[in-house]
Amino acid sequence: MRILVLNCGSSSAKFAVIDPGTGAELVSGLAERLGQDGARLVWKRDGVKKERTIPGADHDRALRTIVQVLDDEGLRAGLAGIGHRVVHGGPRFTASCLVDAEVEAGIEACFPLGPLHNPPNLLGIRIARELFAGLPNVAVFDTAFHSTMPERAYLYAVPWAWYEQHQVRRYGFHGTSHRFVAEEALSRLGLQGRADSALVTAHLGNGCSAAAIHGGRCIDTTMGLTPLEGLVMGTRSGDVDPALIGYVAGRLDIPATQVIDALNKQSGLLGLSGSSNDMRTLVEKADGGDRRAALAIEVFCYRLAKTIGGLATALGRLDAVVFTGGIGENSVAVRSRVCALLGILGIQLDPARNAEHGRSAGGVISSGAVRAMVVPTNEELMIARDTAGLVGGTAACAGRCSCTA
Ligand code: ADP
Repeated sequence: MRILVLNCGSSSAKFAVIDPGTGAELVSGLAERLGQDGARLVWKRDGVKKERTIPGADHDRALRTIVQVLDDEGLRAGLAGIGHRVVHGGPRFTASCLVDAEVEAGIEACFPLGPLHNPPNLLGIRIARELFAGLPNVAVFDTAFHSTMPERAYLYAVPWAWYEQHQVRRYGFHGTSHRFVAEEALSRLGLQGRADSALVTAHLGNGCSAAAIHGGRCIDTTMGLTPLEGLVMGTRSGDVDPALIGYVAGRLDIPATQVIDALNKQSGLLGLSGSSNDMRTLVEKADGGDRRAALAIEVFCYRLAKTIGGLATALGRLDAVVFTGGIGENSVAVRSRVCALLGILGIQLDPARNAEHGRSAGGVISSGAVRAMVVPTNEELMIARDTAGLVGGTAACAGRCSCTA
């Protein structure tokens, strides 16, 4: 079976054709700078990169060009379905589901919760339904994996009416990645199907979040109503005193929305270092004596370790801490610093294994009973698997959302 995976952002559209059975990626690519002069489509097949300029192309033209590429590569005819990444599923979408008009309306109803991501996600779905008439479409939600969190984890201590009337609660994001690496880690550790398995997964990319996973189900996570809550990230602050927003707005005489924009785009590693949001650059600068770069890394690692400790408390016991995402998979220095702070949980880092990202030990980079692990994420494959399950009839939406499948 072959599945087309689409991830439409505000100015980009990522795509891949994946065999969900083998995990093989037959082609993958990215249409970027959409709506601008420099819009282009780049794609890779069998290790060979190709590029087509599509000046000024919008999402519609970009997706039409992707269809042409799939035709040229002989990959369109064999497609069994299309899987779409959708960032916010709100309280309603607790699992992936086939897309019909009602599901489209449900995704639209979540626009206020995911104002930056859900509109381009839905646009991608609508264009794909038109361009690939007859092919089933599946929506895979970033929030869905976290829908098993108990009330004590997802409720904010705020006026009840905000929750009841305006859906103000913690949702969590990166769920597809947390689910993928958790399943992979449980399988590698021989813990699949064990009701008492306990993992903390740390997805550390440009956005960063961690999750507590008990018996394969999420019981807590660090992101909240929006992806701004929780860990220090590339340009996002993560947790701050909410009163800071009014204070800074008053001091700088700017609206609160502008402060929140700065917390999203000018904070985190970038705000602390004053130079970069890129961990690779910061590690180099810190090694070269840049004090602010070193401080940014220290705050990032300290906050992460403290958070992992909190999530371990939620679990009550711990089998493994799993690192993933660009930083989690590649940064020997970050993993080393974080694990050094996690001795209290019984984690003993093995520096030699850490240096080679655990590749010769199934991802394990520690020596004690509580494991630290590196597991590369693959959100596209997870989306392809969910899509295959729903179009092939081995999974069902019924009872989990109100679409008709
Ligand atoms: P996104 O969240 O956009 O998918 P990624 O998961 O690709 O991002 O992660 C991007 C982050 O990973 C950047 O901070 C980048 O510096 C970091 N990263 C990638 N490779 C390395 C490396 N070898 N060492 C340290 N950090 C790395």
